[in-house]
Amino acid sequence: MLSTLDELIEEFSDLDPQDQSLYLLELGYELPPFPEHARTEENRVHGCQSQVWLITETEGRGQDAPFTIRADSDSNIVRGLIAILQAAYNGRTAREIIDFDIQAVFRSLHLQQHISPQRRNGLRGMVERIQALALSQLKLSTTNDSAHMPGCRSTAVEAHPSNPSGNGATVRMQPTEIAPGNVADAGSAFNAEQLRQQFPVLCQELAGGMRPVFLDSGASAQKPSCVIEKEREVEEQYYANAYRGRYSFGARVDEELESSREKIAAFINAPNTSCLAFTPGTTIGLNMVAFGWGRKHVQKGDEILISLMEHHANFVPWQQLAKERQATLRFIPLTDDGRLDLDRLPEVLNNRTKVVAICGMSNVLGTINPIDEIARQAHAVGACMVVDGAQSVPHLKTDVQGSEIDFLLFSGHKLYGPTGVGVLYGRPERLDEMDPIFFGGHMIERVYSDHSVWAKPPAKFEAGTLPIIQAIALGTAIAWINDTGLARIHRHEQLLLEEATERLLEISGLKIFGPSTEHKGAIISFRIDDLHPEDLAATLDRNGVFTRHGHHCTMPLHDYLGVSATTRVSFGAYNTQDDIRVLCESVQEAVTRQQKSAVRRSSSTR
Ligand code: PLP
Repeated sequence: MLSTLDELIEEFSDLDPQDQSLYLLELGYELPPFPEHARTEENRVHGCQSQVWLITETEGRGQDAPFTIRADSDSNIVRGLIAILQAAYNGRTAREIIDFDIQAVFRSLHLQQHISPQRRNGLRGMVERIQALALSQLKLSTTNDSAHMPGCRSTAVEAHPSNPSGNGATVRMQPTEIAPGNVADAGSAFNAEQLRQQFPVLCQELAGGMRPVFLDSGASAQKPSCVIEKEREVEEQYYANAYRGRYSFGARVDEELESSREKIAAFINAPNTSCLAFTPGTTIGLNMVAFGWGRKHVQKGDEILISLMEHHANFVPWQQLAKERQATLRFIPLTDDGRLDLDRLPEVLNNRTKVVAICGMSNVLGTINPIDEIARQAHAVGACMVVDGAQSVPHLKTDVQGSEIDFLLFSGHKLYGPTGVGVLYGRPERLDEMDPIFFGGHMIERVYSDHSVWAKPPAKFEAGTLPIIQAIALGTAIAWINDTGLARIHRHEQLLLEEATERLLEISGLKIFGPSTEHKGAIISFRIDDLHPEDLAATLDRNGVFTRHGHHCTMPLHDYLGVSATTRVSFGAYNTQDDIRVLCESVQEAVTRQQKSAVRRSSSTR
């Protein structure tokens, strides 16, 4: 005898996670038989890890006809989930099914916490199929009755690929419930000295009693203790492979990964977690987009638009793609002060442009690019907007939906998180039209001897074992940023930027590349007459000041600037005014030493 929904909720409330799984198994055993003739490809629900077939039956034809869900699976746990869906939906009319808040049922059962993400995807697939069938019944009866169809909670209907008539259409559901970014008030006091205490690496004493002045966060930011502790927690308490085992460690890892995905989704305002794939970092993510999306959509004679300020990660893949596809790589011109010259955008953007790939913030000039405006103009000519967010995401509020970004890539290690993990965000329709470029385990729905069918995103783009610990700890890093307040961090960094700019410019012969501070983020790249960046770096290092010198993976930009190398200073939340003082005094010391040795050299040659 099948339980009612209320009975199920009551039963579940007393069960711990292990017993819930057993109970789901029991429910599965009791599922009524499924008609053999209905085990067809058309009735298969895709996106499930196991095989699932689902049909609906109605008593009568009108809008008031109650529905019965009939389904089966080769997994008994999934059969248990089917029993829950039957308890929730059976006996309801099409309209009631569409209006019914099934998520509230899942919440009362605490289902989301106790089933694996893949099963969750499968469950979502079943719900979408039921809603689609209810919707097509509603449309059918409306047409038959010529009756008025009241407003529907579903936002859009697409024909299912296997059934273009719309019978079995998938309903795009309301975005999943993700809270908006919890960015603390930018105005409240920010105590960087105190915040610094959360970063063990910065609390150490260097030889000679100096404290580290870390000014290379643009390359990799330091990690607060909570991130380091989270990595340790996973290692020591529940480490297991992800999305594989149904034992408790595996389930916990899956849960933690999904929780991290949810934090990331909220952080960049993604519509749901399915449009976020974990990657090894920005570089790999950009290659995935260039060769997974670009190779499919860029044809001979098309154009790809980037800029000279791009990091090689957002330069070389497009250059290679252009070569391969016989397309043309074009560049948005720069203004004299190192901004994108939008007045000249029409010269390079046209209806042959298929991709516009631009960084949110330059890793050398610090320039913050007007992504919203560029995306608007790119979309107006039908181009895809790709944003390299490696530098911008750690410093500026990113809203992928508000800015109409098609693809956004960023790295965990610049976001106070671990190395080896990054994020590929894609607008759902873009991810659907993108091919994977890595193949193997986890990214498939079904492998046949002669072909394979890909899993739905994000699994489609997550072949093999994920950087599990790093991906979980990235969620912790984002929670740390949210707690500290992204807007407060940004404001603090801008104050440091202004102070450092002013003080550095007092040093004779020093030239800063890039626009004035109101157009840039927490990066300063500079050169000093007659003092090579490498020589400067040696003095800075002796004083415990860690900066970077070289071309910073932007050779074309350095060619354009007419220099082979620059010194780059980049700030993070933990930098202080004292760091700026030590930096500027150290730069001055190096300049003075250089001047003295120049004087000595010239007097000895006289
Ligand atoms: N894009 C920009 C603007 C960067 O600054 C960097 C790294 O410095 C990258 C891409 C590459 O990031 P990753 O090395 O994490 O792949």
